[in-house]
Formats: sequence, C-alpha cells, structure tokens
Amino acid sequence: MTAEANSPTQTSTAIVGFENSFAEALAPMTVSWQGAEVPDPKLLVLNQHLAEALELDASVLRTDDGIALLSGAASPADATPVATAYAGHQFGGYAPILGDGRALLLGELIDVDGNRVDLQLKGSGRTPFSRGGDGFAVVGPMLREYLVSEAMNALGIPTTRSLSVVATGRNVQRSGAEPGAVLARVAASHLRVGTFELAARHRDLLQPLADYAINRHYPELTSLAETGTDNRYLAFLEAVVERQAALVAQWMLVGFVHGVMNTDNTTISGETIDYGPCAFIDAYDPDALFSSIDHGGRYRLGNQPSVLKWNLARFAESILTLLSPDPDTAIAAATATLNTFDELYDARLTAGLAAKLGVADIAFDRALLDDLLTLMHDHRADWTGTFRALADELRGNPDSLDVLIPREATRSWVSRWRAALGSCALDEQQTAARMDGVNPAYIPRNHLLDEALRAATDGDLAPFLRLLDAVTHPFVSRPEWIDLVDPAPDSFSAGFQTFCGT
Ligand code: AMP
Ligand code: MG
Repeated sequence: MTAEANSPTQTSTAIVGFENSFAEALAPMTVSWQGAEVPDPKLLVLNQHLAEALELDASVLRTDDGIALLSGAASPADATPVATAYAGHQFGGYAPILGDGRALLLGELIDVDGNRVDLQLKGSGRTPFSRGGDGFAVVGPMLREYLVSEAMNALGIPTTRSLSVVATGRNVQRSGAEPGAVLARVAASHLRVGTFELAARHRDLLQPLADYAINRHYPELTSLAETGTDNRYLAFLEAVVERQAALVAQWMLVGFVHGVMNTDNTTISGETIDYGPCAFIDAYDPDALFSSIDHGGRYRLGNQPSVLKWNLARFAESILTLLSPDPDTAIAAATATLNTFDELYDARLTAGLAAKLGVADIAFDRALLDDLLTLMHDHRADWTGTFRALADELRGNPDSLDVLIPREATRSWVSRWRAALGSCALDEQQTAARMDGVNPAYIPRNHLLDEALRAATDGDLAPFLRLLDAVTHPFVSRPEWIDLVDPAPDSFSAGFQTFCGT
C-alpha cells in the first residue's frame, strides 16, 4: 500500500496549522505526495464564510501563496499532504484498490466549533492511485461540485463543503481540451466504506482504523468495551447505519440523485460526498436517472435506499471480525443491525414528508403522503415546485398548484389534506410559512446549472455566482430570482446526462 513519496515542488509560508492524525494513526493507508505544478493559477471562487469557520484568513488565501496552497502547487512548511488508499464496490463489483487518484489530503484543521475536519484537494495531479487517469479535474465539474455541495449544506443536509476552485491554466483532455481546475473541499473526514473494505483485507489495520473512526466521529462510543454483545464496534455499525439512513432520507426529500453510490463514495461520517454525476429531479419519478454510465439504473432515485443498505452490508462485512470472535455471533449481530435500516429510513422519510406538508405535529393518515406521491408521479409534477405550490394553496393562491397538476386530479387530495390540517394549532398562513421553511424554492436545477457552468468555462462567472447565491439561500423567495424556480423545459430534460470522473 505504500509508495515512494514524490518531492515537494515549492514551499509557501505557513498560513495554516495542519494536523495529520489520520496519516499518523494509519500510515500504511497513506502515501506522502505533492500536487502537480500549476502553470497559471487563478482563483475562481472562494467560500469566505467557510474560510472563517475554519479560522483561515480569506485575504491570505487570496494571495499568491494562498492560491498556491489551494491549487496544490505548494504546501505550507508544516503540511505533509498524503494520498489515501481505499478499496470499494463500484456498481456492485469489487475493486481491491482505488484510492485518491486525483486528490490530496492536505491535512486536518480544527474548526471554530472544535471539530476536526479534512482539507482535501481534488484535481491536483497524478498519484500512485491514478491507474489510467490523468489526475486532473476541469473547471465545469469542479464548480459543479462546489455549487451543489454548498446547496446541500444550505438545505441542512450533511455534506462535504467547498472552500475554493482554482483554475490551473492547464488544458486537460476530456471530450475536447478543457480548462483544468482544483477544488478544495472540507469534510468531517474522508473515511469511506471502501476504507474499511481495504483494511479488512489487511487485518492489522482494521481495529486501529475502527478505533480512529469511532474516536473521530462517534466519540461517545469510545468508552464501550472492545468485546461482548454490546461492544463498541457493534455500536459503531449501528451509528453508521443510523446516520446513513437519515442521510438518504434527506436526499429523497429534496429529490437528489447521487448518481454513483459506490461504497467508496459512502462515508463513515454520514456526509454526502463526491458530486460527480449527481442531479436534482424536476418531475417526480422514482426511476429518475441521469448518469451516462448507469445503464442498469442501479443508482436511480427510488433505488437509493436499498443500494445504501447494500453498501452498509459491505461495511458490516468488513468489520465482522471486530463484532465477535465467533463468526456466527458476528453475522447474527450484523444482520440484526442491518435489518433496522428500513425502519430507520422510513421513519425519517415519513417525518420529513409530514414536515413538508405541514402535518408534522398532528395525526394524519399515511395514505395522505403516498397518494400525493402517486399524484405527482402520474402527472410528472415538479418535485420542488409542488411543495411550494401547496403552501401557496393555503395562502389562497391555487394557481401555483394548478399549473403543475390539473385541479380535477388534486381536488379530493387537497380537501383531505386541509381536513387533516384542521386539527393543527397553527392557522393556514402560519402552516404555509412553516412549510416554506423546509421546502426549498431554489435548488440547482439541471438546466440552470448547465448554463451557468458553460458560461463559467468560457470565462463568465456571473450566472454561476447568481445561482450559487440563490441555492445557498434556498427557502426565502425573492422576486429577482423568479426565473430560477421553473423546471427545465422538456426539450432540455429529454437529453440531459451527467458524467463520472470528469
Ligand atoms: P469517483 O467515482 O469519481 O469517486 O472516482 C472513483 C475512483 O477513480 C477514485 O479512486 C478516483 O480517485 C479515481 N479517479 C477519478 N477520476 C480520475 C482522474 N481523472 N485521474 C485519476 N483518478 C481518477
Ligand atoms: Mg469517489
């Protein structure tokens, strides 16, 4: 798993104090490495708020030294960047070694809340894990990850964050020559199910890795015993299952299709990671699918919960030897834990849908939720727009809903819903306001994002920055953003595809 380190290209002044707890604890899973040279760095976007939360001085990050750090061209004297090793199941098939093929973990920072986070670069050049890849990334997809991850964060969904995108001035070969870029992203950690799948095959690493992950993400479990029926590793499995069940429910509630839910893209922290081929739906359709390579529809919208459960089973398998020395006991405990997934997921989804409809605190019939989903599916109603339209309905404006689904189809459902709301302590205006607090008006709609990324790739960042502003303030409607709420025209959606590894 180890390889010779390449030599540092240059050293900038120390502008951050990095720690390296992962590389220190799990050295064999890392390779010291440096980013590629950056011919002509240009800072395209910097997340000032996030920089502040990391106690980084944004004005320093904008200097040549700061941009060199954010592009991977130079590391501060106190940093020892590493590429990390992991394995993973991709589309169901096992890849024994994947790893950071175009990413570098610069190090860890402690944020203003005292949390340890990773600062990682994506697109910083080849590493020992690059296999056939060039190690680079390009402007459009890196800005895409920047915007979508920040949108997810604004929606209250656990996710990696984006600190910056630097254009490198290097042309990178994709379908044609494209401008290269490096994304700097921040994560609770980059530990994945795939990290454990690799460690499981190198037995001396498994327990140190599990203890490291527990200590970092589930510190409340560190006091539990190593063995016995309620040992810390079983509690760890339960905790990861719970966080991931909650996460996928949140994706479903906003109509987010991750697109490449391989086990190397499933985190131990419960954060969303790797925004390659992801997309938000317009029309509600459980079969919604955007990725150009997902021919079997494995990662389609409605399959996300079951594929996540499958990924968690791979996680459980990888830590089986820690659950009990007796294989039958270990398998029984893992199976029982995995069997809680459906209920955990369903409880989160149901509670979330109830909140979206303003019925969270009152008794309602579950069929009310299911019947709305059926109506929306039958009429290919815009997912995001429908929930905002229902709040409008309560404000005495039926037009919003009528443009999405004909009134003859919604009449009886709406009267059942309003009857349920009758037992709510809030009046309808208050309920509408509360619904708007959980139902976004602005999401990164595919056609808007596509247009913004095309302009950005051609050098005009204005549409990107405008869309970024809207999707990071998703809940309060503003008249100047009226053009950002409509679904894509059918002519756009029909041919829309997303791409991995771009
Ligand atoms: P992903 O599915 O995008 O998370 O990537 C899966 C694997 O492919 C990871 O090991 C990545 O580091 C690697 N990879 C993706 N794109 C490239 C690239 N352009 N060069 C080298 N490795 C890459
Ligand atoms: Mg990945």
